Amino acid sequence: MNAPHAMLPFADPGAGYRALQPEIDAAVARALASGWYILGAEGEAFEREFAEWLGLPRAVGCANGTDALMLILRGMGIGPGCTVATVSHTAVATVAAIEMAGATPLLLDIDPETYTMDADELAAVLEEPPPGLPPIRAAIPVHIYGQACDLGPMLEACRAADVRLIEDCAQAHGAAWQGQRLGTLGEAAAFSLYPTKNLGALGDGGILATADAELADRIAAIRQYGWKRRYISDLVGVNSRLDELQAAILRVKLQYLDAQNARRQQIAAAYDAALAGTGLTPPVRRPGCEHVFHLYVLRHPERDAIMAALKAQGIGTGIHYPVPVHEQSAYEGRVALGPADCDETSRAAREVFSLPMYPELTDEQVERVCTALRAL
Ligand SMILES: *Cc1c(COP(=O)(O)O)cnc(C)c1O
Repeated sequence: MNAPHAMLPFADPGAGYRALQPEIDAAVARALASGWYILGAEGEAFEREFAEWLGLPRAVGCANGTDALMLILRGMGIGPGCTVATVSHTAVATVAAIEMAGATPLLLDIDPETYTMDADELAAVLEEPPPGLPPIRAAIPVHIYGQACDLGPMLEACRAADVRLIEDCAQAHGAAWQGQRLGTLGEAAAFSLYPTKNLGALGDGGILATADAELADRIAAIRQYGWKRRYISDLVGVNSRLDELQAAILRVKLQYLDAQNARRQQIAAAYDAALAGTGLTPPVRRPGCEHVFHLYVLRHPERDAIMAALKAQGIGTGIHYPVPVHEQSAYEGRVALGPADCDETSRAAREVFSLPMYPELTDEQVERVCTALRAL
């Protein structure tokens, strides 16, 4: 028998704080002492630093990643009377954001190897829109698990159909497609800063980025009651602000993001090697792209037995996601599906599972996971 180990958790956001505790505590103290807690110097500095890191002129902070998507849609004037194509294999947030903007979601299927939007199906619905839906005005491909979508054909199909391409980068901070950072390829990109994301606050947060300065200005107004001047609403807005404490924390964490992504890739390589000779296949990497492993996802028809075997070895796992959006009771029978009927999405939901993946995992912890994998 192995020596009894504490369970290795699937995720450990506290470890992300402890790893940078002195710097984070100093940043928090600075923000607290400033006497200004909403939309101030920390938030502006974070927006500037994030935009620079990404390589775009403008970034706008907001309350969370769902709002970042919703604000982009509202800023583009996409709402009632518009359809937005996305996937069912995503955090429900993507679809919720479309409905929050007042638009109609159309859910497309995925490519079963990369779990990203089926680019052929997107091209097909843009060429021949499904009957009974408002016109398709935007597409939101999701760079799921930290890997780029098949952006080449998607950008081409959207351009040909005059449809806006918005990148859901909530799981893909720092990933790249053909040498270009994700989030710089579409017309705008939304990032979640939820604690477990590759760049995570210690609370809720979101940020969006775009090269379109007018769009950024409009969104910056919409996120605060439509104000361009204080107390004067030029636009119909909402309240979705990133607070100064989170911005100060995020400024610290942004400095470590590239190194932390490299650590995730190192852990992924160790898991890949441990899988040799098991019945499991390492995650497919899209050629020419850089995967940042927000999640390390495997699939197998006997998923539940494998997860139980790992649990018996003290290894926590997760499922992303157990029920596709179109099969959830809030959406089932109500949301429109593309011609592929999301068959691959439903199959993936029954077979995928995720291994522990966060940059603070120690070499010893990674080896524990690898030992458990080799024993499968
Ligand atoms: C986390 C996530 C979101 C939403 O982010 P929140 O900050 O939780 O609102 C949107 N899309 C995807 C793909 C996500 O993983």
